[in-house]
Amino acid sequence: MIGWVLKKILGTQNQREVRRMLPLVQKINQLEEGLRSLSFEELRAKTAAFREKIAQGESLDAILPEAFAVVKNCCRRFTEEKRKIRVRGQEIPWEMIPFDVQLIGGMVLHSGRIAEMATGEGKTLVATLPTYLNALTGKGVHVVTVNDYLAARDAEWMGEVYRELGLTVGCLQHGQSQAERRAQYACDITYGTCSEFGFDYLRDNGMATTPEDQVQRGHFYAIIDEVDSILIDEARTPLIISGPVTVSTHQFDKYRSSIEGLVRKQNGLCTDWANQAKEKVEAGDLLGAGRLLFKVKLGSPRNKLLLKFMEDPGTRRAIDDAELEMYQDTRRTELYKTKEEMYFTIDERNSEADLSEMGRKFLNPADPNFFLVPDLITINHDIDANPAAGAEEKLKQKQAAQANYEEASQRIHNISQLLRAYCVFEKDVHYVVQENKVIIVDEYTGRLMPGRRWSDGLHQAVEAKEGVQIDRETQTLATITIQNYFRLYEKLAGMTGTAETEANEFKDIYRLGVVVIPTNRACVRKDADDLIFKTRREKLNALIEEIKKRNAAGQPMLVGTASVESSEIISRMLRRENIPHNVLNAKYHQQEAEIVARAGERGAVTIATNMAGRGTDIKLSPGVPELGGLHVVGTERHESRRIDRQLRGRCARQGDPGSSQFYISFEDDLMRNFGDSRRIAGLMTKLGMEDNEGLQHPWLNRSVETAQKRVEQRNYQIRKHTLQYDDVMNQQRTVIYSWRTDILTTEDPRKEVFETVDERIGAEVEARAGTDPVDLDGLLHWSNTAMPLGLQREELQNAGGKEPWKELLKKRVREAYELKVKFENPEAVKALERYVLLGAIDRLWQEHLYAMDGLRTSINLRAYGQKDPLIEYKREAYGMFEELMERIKGEVVLNLFRSASSLSAFEHFLAALPQRTGRGELPMQAQPQTTEGSISMGAGGQGTAVDEALAPMKRQGPKLGRNDPCPLDPNKKFKNCCGASGSKVCFKTAA
Ligand code: ADP
Ligand code: MG
Repeated sequence: MIGWVLKKILGTQNQREVRRMLPLVQKINQLEEGLRSLSFEELRAKTAAFREKIAQGESLDAILPEAFAVVKNCCRRFTEEKRKIRVRGQEIPWEMIPFDVQLIGGMVLHSGRIAEMATGEGKTLVATLPTYLNALTGKGVHVVTVNDYLAARDAEWMGEVYRELGLTVGCLQHGQSQAERRAQYACDITYGTCSEFGFDYLRDNGMATTPEDQVQRGHFYAIIDEVDSILIDEARTPLIISGPVTVSTHQFDKYRSSIEGLVRKQNGLCTDWANQAKEKVEAGDLLGAGRLLFKVKLGSPRNKLLLKFMEDPGTRRAIDDAELEMYQDTRRTELYKTKEEMYFTIDERNSEADLSEMGRKFLNPADPNFFLVPDLITINHDIDANPAAGAEEKLKQKQAAQANYEEASQRIHNISQLLRAYCVFEKDVHYVVQENKVIIVDEYTGRLMPGRRWSDGLHQAVEAKEGVQIDRETQTLATITIQNYFRLYEKLAGMTGTAETEANEFKDIYRLGVVVIPTNRACVRKDADDLIFKTRREKLNALIEEIKKRNAAGQPMLVGTASVESSEIISRMLRRENIPHNVLNAKYHQQEAEIVARAGERGAVTIATNMAGRGTDIKLSPGVPELGGLHVVGTERHESRRIDRQLRGRCARQGDPGSSQFYISFEDDLMRNFGDSRRIAGLMTKLGMEDNEGLQHPWLNRSVETAQKRVEQRNYQIRKHTLQYDDVMNQQRTVIYSWRTDILTTEDPRKEVFETVDERIGAEVEARAGTDPVDLDGLLHWSNTAMPLGLQREELQNAGGKEPWKELLKKRVREAYELKVKFENPEAVKALERYVLLGAIDRLWQEHLYAMDGLRTSINLRAYGQKDPLIEYKREAYGMFEELMERIKGEVVLNLFRSASSLSAFEHFLAALPQRTGRGELPMQAQPQTTEGSISMGAGGQGTAVDEALAPMKRQGPKLGRNDPCPLDPNKKFKNCCGASGSKVCFKTAA
């Protein structure tokens, strides 16, 4: 074996990397030989011995050879005794001893890199080596799988080794209780999916109110299986815990019917143009036809006639020519004019829709400007420049302009989302409608994603379009991107069959190197050139013929599709031909895993979207190798080459025979949007393509790959972009989460409380003392209303000066508090102190997240200006965060003495958390009661009592909206002044 590996290894850096590890492989194998004479007891005792060494400061690297040898030897013993292991209800005999390449894979994982190992190379087993080694530290190793089924399977299967060697293994599953989860994390090793890990982190840090509520115990080392799928495909959507917002501001139902009319108008227009183009083609005027069709493409890219013309290389070229011509710099004005000839334009590549003057007029004939964002900067400038108006008048005008601006951007945002919903998002492709709900179809996997919603109002727009109930806009309660979650780990590693094409991204974003491990046995798979067809119909017909032919011979086939929809079309066609087959959509993981496992049997035809059955091994049954092994057919090239490689890799594992081929057509999305159609059309003419017949040529493969590279690049940019924005949030999240953890874990929450109060006092004094003359009355008023200090004016006067004032206030606030809690149960007081802090942080942080969402939207609108949106975003986000911190401190001060209202809020809080309700008496004896003019909390306006100390605050505040100016500080919007919103009363207003 070593000899074979050595032969493979010459030259490249990757190969040198692998070669460097060979001496260690030898060492491990030697050590393993030495272990064979031990009893099982003695082998098991090694674990304790390793732990002892680690405790004495020995490094993991030093222990690696012997630890790997122990795992390998354990596998050997299992194999020899043919140990049967119950895995997901089935008895599986253990029959694997790590190969040398697997040992190398294990070392790569231990070193914190990605091991690229082809499908079927036994990565599940590979992971046990570094997992065992690192788990010896007791710090907890996390093994991340793509679904719950695989987590359970691997924990049971591989768990046998760990348990035998004296380590504990846990497994996270959806729906486990908090106590169960904590138990899983307490194990030396924990298997689970990335969303289970990520959501636990968010709950631990964004919601837990006591350390006992937290389930995780740190982020030491994670090994991610199918790492490309998780860090690249899944990473495009962050993990979000959300709840409904209190006030909903959308106007989707209001504009829906007008947009429908608009779309109808536009479609009519485009169909007319397409028909005119047809006449022109018939008259031989290709140039004219091309220009017309280009317009159709701008206005209605999925127009039937247009799609038909795109199939024909001649007209397609004419369209491309027209497009190229129009995008020349000198033709800019003409392009704008063209765009003004229709109601709106669609950019399918970026899935954007843009309303034109004509469209605006159609929607509101009286005032086309109704749909334009006012230029706030110019307006404000004009207001300032007007000598006639006084300061107050100017302020009023500015406020009006601001309100106007907000309203217009909301309106435009709604309209453009509706347009996208109608023109870019297609039912049964991008989403399905089930039980009166719009459910997203994952574009990568074809899976239905119930519960996931498009952000930014798009989901609601689609709901409006489909006439189903428009669900309330949700508000982010806690969020993190997958990228930032995994960056928490001290050490990260991953494994997959396909990492190499994405090596740059792994390096840039995760600082993960990729090492390609040679296969245990040479791969003999035959990859045929792509077969290219003009139309989808022709492609599918040819595909069915091929399936019929191979099926008749008994060869098993795996047909990979890009979407649920195309799986179903192929299934229908096969049914018509009476060919038995299985369809998998990555929905029922366990069941599908079982079907996929049998995909290598004689005569099996399995249709699967690309995620279905990932991680399940396809073994060939007897007689199948002689037929050529498993044949894999791709029905479409995916946007990313990696996914295609992944599909091909499903066959020809461990030296088995196997073959693969892709079928593509010009109507595939990839080709329509990113294909270099001119080149390909040229090639096709050159190579002499006949109708109804597929064309095959290495040149074509290269063209397709170029298109894929282009999309990969673009998607990478999108992910990077998401991350750049999330980085800003990440810093803020780190500050808030670590503050929260301090509060949760401290034995002395009062200290935290007073630190916060002191900072608030400091800021307040600085502000009041900073004016000329010093605002003594203001300070007095604040001190006595925010806190029940009963301070006299003379006391302040006598103290004189900033520092003495601060000292005075700090002293008095402590005295007041002592008095207040003197007769209370100290444990209860502690709980309340924690709650005062956490309540303020959580509520305002959530508001802050909402405001940050809004900031992102408005920043994108601003991108039309000259500014770099990211820099703007950073600047404003920073400002908002500073404000947030001040507001939290302010709220802590206010809540500290409002025992009654705090108490009842505390009650609410506990009631809202079912697992926590059992946790004992309420901290204070005060009876909550509703008094007149109480402060209302939450959307339901439930009344709560206000403590005597707060008597000056008792009043029925006006109900203000988030965007109303704060009555105290008209320069600030209500939502930014103290964080209150909806039916809540602004505390500043009341004070
Ligand atoms: P991968 O995740 O790399 O695609 P799996 O971990 O699913 O591969 O393993 C594929 C198959 O190879 C499994 O059936 C497993 O039992 C088998 N296998 C793995 N390692 C060995 C080994 N060292 N010797 C024999 N069979 C092995
Ligand atoms: Mg696997």
